Amino acid sequence: MLERRAFLGGLVAATAFAAPSNRRVLIAGAGIAGLACAHELTKRGYDVTIFEGRARPGGRIETLREGLGPGMTAETGATRIPDTHHFTLAYVNEFGLPLEPFHAPVGLDLFHIRGKSFTIANGKEPDWPLDLRPEERKLGRNGLAKTYLLPPVEAARPFARSLQVPPPIAAADRVTLGEYLSGQGLSPDAVELATLGVSPTIAAGHLLLVESSSEIRNTYFHIRGGNDLLPFALARRLAGKIQYGCRVAAFTQDGTQASITIERAGERETHRAPHIVCTLPFSVTAGLFDGAHLSRQKQTLTETLLYGHMTKVFLQMREQFWRKQGLSGFAFTDLLSERFWALGPAQAAARGLLLSYMIGPKAERLGAMPETERVRATLADAETLFPGARSYFEGATVKNWKEDKWQNGGTVRLPPGRLNALAECAVPEGRIHFAGEHTSRWTGWIQGSIESAHRVVREISTSTL
Ligand SMILES: Cc1cc2nc3c(=O)[nH]c(=O)nc-3n(C[C@H](O)[C@H](O)[C@H](O)COP(=O)(O)OP(=O)(O)OC[C@H]3O[C@@H](n4cnc5c(N)ncnc54)[C@H](O)[C@@H]3O)c2cc1C
Repeated sequence: MLERRAFLGGLVAATAFAAPSNRRVLIAGAGIAGLACAHELTKRGYDVTIFEGRARPGGRIETLREGLGPGMTAETGATRIPDTHHFTLAYVNEFGLPLEPFHAPVGLDLFHIRGKSFTIANGKEPDWPLDLRPEERKLGRNGLAKTYLLPPVEAARPFARSLQVPPPIAAADRVTLGEYLSGQGLSPDAVELATLGVSPTIAAGHLLLVESSSEIRNTYFHIRGGNDLLPFALARRLAGKIQYGCRVAAFTQDGTQASITIERAGERETHRAPHIVCTLPFSVTAGLFDGAHLSRQKQTLTETLLYGHMTKVFLQMREQFWRKQGLSGFAFTDLLSERFWALGPAQAAARGLLLSYMIGPKAERLGAMPETERVRATLADAETLFPGARSYFEGATVKNWKEDKWQNGGTVRLPPGRLNALAECAVPEGRIHFAGEHTSRWTGWIQGSIESAHRVVREISTSTL
């Protein structure tokens, strides 16, 4: 009797909870795109399973706690949430996560060029040691940016919530940043000043897109306690639906089903479903789609899409000594450490992090050095900018995204004229859908990954396959 009741109970449970098989969706990757996809599909009654290679969720949202002073955190990936990022903030609110301002504006930013450091106080620019034309000198760094870089970003404002790349940005997508500025008649030194802290080899369209996507009304936010609390909250809600330690080894599809082959603890297994979502960055997908019958264009993208070198070196300092010098700890430089950010609590006497943040060729140069040399070079730059740094130094952590086997790069790096690759990456191929940072006009931001997840949910819920 007992057995029969248990059997019937099991049947009832199966009928009540198992979604019909045509509602099954398999998702590759538990970064924010995969998690958001699973969360939205679950709300709509789909039966989802996520396969994630790592033993943690969040992908490029990664907060370090170990190896740092008590209570300190460091974001190796996503750090700032612009107050205009409605998709990201909607999730922050849904999970009740507390926000704090990212960069409390305490002190002056530093500019270091040709061996000298400068600040800009009350908008008054220094006498830059550069061969500038009189009108360029009059404009200064801020004026150059306003005159030569800001117009397409301003013109993109009406398209702030458009799901497509804003047309004024698309129109600028032809040349590198350096070429874009010199093409408007700027002298080489003025180009150097305007691009201090950013590589001039980056595509102008890409830079303007990322800049226009990071437009803030008032402030950037950070999640108090660490940005990884967002993927952790989603993962908790999805408990039982995420399988960690599962490396996706192949995607295939035929007329009736799509499948994911995973490797778990050295064994291979294949899972099938009517719909599959790939949220893996295309920096790690070469060869995974060989049996998936993708269009030639998509197959090529999955094998060749470029991702940037991005490296952060965190220097832990006993005190935020730069504050005593009236400095914010933020710097834009022509040194190897092209940008410094400072992170820490409001009290200057408390421990803080000086963070050297490199993107592109300089990150590649640092990446070629052995670990001890990376720290030595970064600390030398810190000492140049913030004299005394060495005496406050307690330890360092380096994150080089090219060396992370699950990422093989930071964020998508599109060459000039290729902003349309974002839309091409997003197009579904039969039963396989694509989400992730590389498939959204908000590329390079959490916002883009979440937006792409919403798009995929629309695709699956309106699919006739
Ligand atoms: C240095 C840096 C700074 C950034 N700064 C900001 C910022 O300030 N603000 C902001 O909003 N955004 C920022 N971003 C961007 C943001 O982090 C990303 O856009 C977003 O986190 C990407 O999420 P995703 O889900 O699209 O991809 P991912 O996070 O890459 O997720 C993909 C997942 O797939 C997994 N995976 C890979 N290969 C396999 C495989 N074969 N099998 C199974 N699983 C696999 C990975 O482990 C990962 O969990 C930054 C990114 C970087 C790198």
